[in-house]
Amino acid sequence: MEPVYLDHAAHGPIRPSVLDAYRDAACRWAVNANNLSHARGRSAAAALDTAREKTSVLIGATPNEITFTSGATESNNWVIFGAALRTNRRRIITVATEHVSVLAPVAALRERHGFDVTLLEVDRWGRLDPQRVIEAVDDQVALVSIMLANNEIGTRHDLAPIGEHCRTLGVPLHTDITQAVGRIPVDVCTLQASFATFSSHKIHGPLGIGALWKHPDETLVPLLLGGRPDQGLRPGTINLPAAVGFGVASEEAADRLNHDPHGLQRTTERLSAGLESIRGALRVSPVEDAVTGIVNVAFPGVDAREVLDATPEIIGATGSACSAHTVTLSPVIEAIDLPRDARLSCIRLSPGWFTTENEIDVALEAMTSTVRTLRERNGLSKARTNREYQA
Ligand code: PMP
Repeated sequence: MEPVYLDHAAHGPIRPSVLDAYRDAACRWAVNANNLSHARGRSAAAALDTAREKTSVLIGATPNEITFTSGATESNNWVIFGAALRTNRRRIITVATEHVSVLAPVAALRERHGFDVTLLEVDRWGRLDPQRVIEAVDDQVALVSIMLANNEIGTRHDLAPIGEHCRTLGVPLHTDITQAVGRIPVDVCTLQASFATFSSHKIHGPLGIGALWKHPDETLVPLLLGGRPDQGLRPGTINLPAAVGFGVASEEAADRLNHDPHGLQRTTERLSAGLESIRGALRVSPVEDAVTGIVNVAFPGVDAREVLDATPEIIGATGSACSAHTVTLSPVIEAIDLPRDARLSCIRLSPGWFTTENEIDVALEAMTSTVRTLRERNGLSKARTNREYQA
């Protein structure tokens, strides 16, 4: 039996329907969609318009507000460097638990260009205090960047009040919506944001394409220079098959949210409850403010990578990366105040819309058995339980 895939936060496998649309577009429009001087180019451009329309609908935007990029990493870098380039303001505000594709360009602005960076702290559950954010923002801030849902522990941030405050001060708010799109309804207008960024392969679309949404009143400096820019902003021959696939994936994601709004929630809750009932489990994701589809749990005293290695029945992720001699914790695990013996034991399991309840049960049975064995080996059978940790 194939392992149960519980790593949708890292990548959502392409759907057969999306692959068909991608292949069809690659064969049918083997032209440059930017070249409108022949009929096939114009037909390709029309397919691109349709893809942009479908992608925009998923986030409550209009098509001309969307520019296609190579993925959320590029979109995040673009917003951050682009916002810095267009103003004399020299302050950036972001959060300690942002994705590295936000934290790294922000760090580069500080180190190379002397920007003053405020890295907002979060609580044990990855939550921000909106009042503290509002207090930190003044009219000298070039950009505020706060993700909608965290990629490792799923924490959601309430952006609307922050966005409203930013707007009154004329400060742009960027939000990385990569982990929220397709899991929960997202409406960029309600968020009061100026920029939003996301990626196709997290919603079962093709790899190598993402999007940047820009509020119609905002400006953005292009980062790449060259010919025939998409939306006048991003040059180079557009990846039409990927855009068409992204459009289909967006349409299907919107359909799932409309027709089965609790589908992903059901499997997430089943997984979450099952994991928490394993002896020695410590919940890392927040209970109420988490996006559906991401569950993070720790088994203090047991190494997360050992758990995953000893559980071939599942594919999941850990909150640490290992190089030859050192183990580096992710910024998210660094930022939340976990007990010491839990920090190297965080496991993120992310089911998708097509994960079945039976698969969840298989995963839980396998995890329970592995954790029991490793805890016994580590002499932890009598150690604290989840409830004692939470107390
Ligand atoms: N932002 C977040 C929150 C993510 O989870 C990811 C992917 N892990 C990215 C950005 C980067 O996305 P991409 O792979 O499309 O560059």
